[in-house]
Amino acid sequence: MKTVSTLTSRFLVSPASVGAFLMTTAAWGHEDLSQPEIKKEVKVDGQGRKANYMYIDGIKVHETDTSKQPLPPVITPGSEVGAAPSDAVVLFDGSEKAFKANWTDTKGGPSKWKVVNGALESVRGGGYIQSKQEFGSCQLHIEWASPSEVKGNGQGRGNSGVFLMGQYEIQVLDSYENQTYADGQAGALYGRSKPLVNACRKPGEWQSYDIIFHRPHFDDSGKVIKRATFTVLHNGVLIQDHTVLSGGTGWDGPHSISEYKAHGNKGPIAMQDHGNPVRFRNVWVRPLKD
Ligand code: MG
Repeated sequence: MKTVSTLTSRFLVSPASVGAFLMTTAAWGHEDLSQPEIKKEVKVDGQGRKANYMYIDGIKVHETDTSKQPLPPVITPGSEVGAAPSDAVVLFDGSEKAFKANWTDTKGGPSKWKVVNGALESVRGGGYIQSKQEFGSCQLHIEWASPSEVKGNGQGRGNSGVFLMGQYEIQVLDSYENQTYADGQAGALYGRSKPLVNACRKPGEWQSYDIIFHRPHFDDSGKVIKRATFTVLHNGVLIQDHTVLSGGTGWDGPHSISEYKAHGNKGPIAMQDHGNPVRFRNVWVRPLKD
């Protein structure tokens, strides 16, 4: 076959229109300007028949040569939804052994949290618990249950949190018929983004978070150049839809939240001790490419 024409396209825009585009995409909550390189060719076979060929980042559409387009690795999914697949890093499987092997307090010492009936339970005054292994962009599955005995209200009822890179909090709270500020209820990126819906189960019932997180990037001066994104399903329901995290989620007074502060490419998965005996189980992570 002979190539009769070649066309390569990329977004070619002036700096001014990049600025305008950035402003527009910031309003949408998306800011990734990267585009794959598209190359098109028309080839003619021996009988004079023309066929369109298209290459995305150098790989032919419907390429069957696996040396050019490797197949995705085959993994074994868990036997039920939420069960760890074969390529996951299992951080807690209900055992005392996994607790001791994979978790510490924030200073790297033994955590005061305890394993009760296969669940990892927050202990008042025990401080945050964090994974020994550190992760950047990742998929995280974690199950949690607020206390079945309802005590307190608002932020004082079944409060904990799941932290990516030790600092970006997805709120854990008993938000079942328990009103608080929207950006602090269960599934909120604390202080930054309320969940799309309240999918909370009743107090004491097990609930799940499935989190797809992409870490933020910083330049050498410490300025954020790519913000973190979160997609979160709560009990299988989408509650954060590729949400761009506009800054940090740390407490900075009743009506203020921390800003981005440059950090490394990895950090621990952590859970909060907020004084309520919240339980966790079935915690696993799959590192992702940035
Ligand atoms: Mg919290």
